[in-house]
Amino acid sequence: MDAEELTCAGCGRRGLPADVATGWSLATRPRPTGAQSGATGPVTAHCPDCLRRGIRDVEGRLDP
Ligand SMILES: [Zn+2]
Repeated sequence: MDAEELTCAGCGRRGLPADVATGWSLATRPRPTGAQSGATGPVTAHCPDCLRRGIRDVEGRLDP
C-alpha cells in the first residue's frame, strides 16, 4: 500500500511509518476546495537528514 510508505520530499529517501518515531517530519497538505471533507491529502515527509540541512527552507522557496 503506497499510503503506508513515506518518501522524503527533500531527497527521495523512503521510510516506513515506524520511522516517524526516529525523527521524520510529516505534514498533511490541505485538500483543495470541493474535495471530500475528512479525506486526508498527500503527506509531505522529510527525513531526519534533510531536516538537519534545513530542507524546510528549500521547500519554502520551491512552493510559494
Ligand atoms: Zn531526505
